Amino acid sequence: MVNKGTIADLNNDVKAIKTVGELREVIHTLKEKLGLDMSVGLVPTMGALHAGHQSLILEASKECDIVVVSDFVNPIQFGPNEDYENYPRQLKKDIQAVQQVTDRAIVFAPEVKEMYFDNESTRIVPKDLTNVLCGSRRPGHFEGVCTVVGKLFNIVRPDKAFFGMKDAQQVAVIKRMVRDLNFPVEIVPCPIIRDKKGLALSSRNSYLTPVEKNAALVLSRSLSESLGDPIENAESLQDSNTDPEATEIDQYNDDENSVLTLDNLGNIKQRICDIINSEPMAKIDYVEVVDFETLAEPNSKTKEVLIALAVFVGEEIKSAKEQQSAENEIDWGSIKKTRLIDNVLVELPD
Ligand code: AMP
Repeated sequence: MVNKGTIADLNNDVKAIKTVGELREVIHTLKEKLGLDMSVGLVPTMGALHAGHQSLILEASKECDIVVVSDFVNPIQFGPNEDYENYPRQLKKDIQAVQQVTDRAIVFAPEVKEMYFDNESTRIVPKDLTNVLCGSRRPGHFEGVCTVVGKLFNIVRPDKAFFGMKDAQQVAVIKRMVRDLNFPVEIVPCPIIRDKKGLALSSRNSYLTPVEKNAALVLSRSLSESLGDPIENAESLQDSNTDPEATEIDQYNDDENSVLTLDNLGNIKQRICDIINSEPMAKIDYVEVVDFETLAEPNSKTKEVLIALAVFVGEEIKSAKEQQSAENEIDWGSIKKTRLIDNVLVELPD
């Protein structure tokens, strides 16, 4: 590793780099000045940075000499009825959030036209791992994710890339893409960061009213109450310079706590659904229990089980449920709501 501070000296006026050419030049110059063997870490984000993103940046700064944080709301990973237009954008604040964590980071914030040519016609289309979980609910989403991440790998040429387990399916899909397409990069999964009450941090939490935020606690509670309370084992992120209220929860229940076996996965899933359904402002999109490697049904070869959920939360869900009757079907599409995800990864006992 080079001396801390050297990158800041070369890059002291930290501002976002907007073009692929400029980014390549900055990385090249840094390598020329500081040593060709300097390692580069990439943290892909869509901005609106919070302590979850900051934990990835911190990890990248520990493991790599230069950190590139991409800050780009990627249009092609949003579906037609999703929140691309309203997605929070706050580049200035994001630059400060990066600086809070490390002085060895470069922020790359391209415009859409810099990333996608008008006549772009080449995409990376993942297959096997995307017909479940978010992939089945968000057609085209992982095509958009793989394409932008593949482009970022080619633009930045990182040694390591850091992804949050908050988006566990994304980690599985990207790992498979890296293997299948021989990208020379190591994928580093990082734990989910939560607020003090257990809510997984997300840029989309900014859509929630205070009552909705409270209702959203049902996601993590459904997991913790069904699985022997991993949230009680939360440790404070003491040294992260980030949100003091943020916590990191061990993704793996230790065997003592875990009540999970192949035989009782169905019961656990049912318990999770029951808890979520007991929250009037919540509506389940999916609750699924899968083998983390294959994202298929767990079997005797499964080592790690991913219990993942997506839940819509909204005050209007409560009123819609109250008005629901046999004749009066709810038109969920017209109801204002926020889609949140959460998961826990559990090691099965041998
Ligand atoms: P996004 O900006 O939502 O695309 O997220 C960028 C990266 O940050 C992804 O790898 C996410 O999984 C990760 N991330 C988002 N929220 C959290 C969180 N609460 N804890 C850890 N990583 C997160």
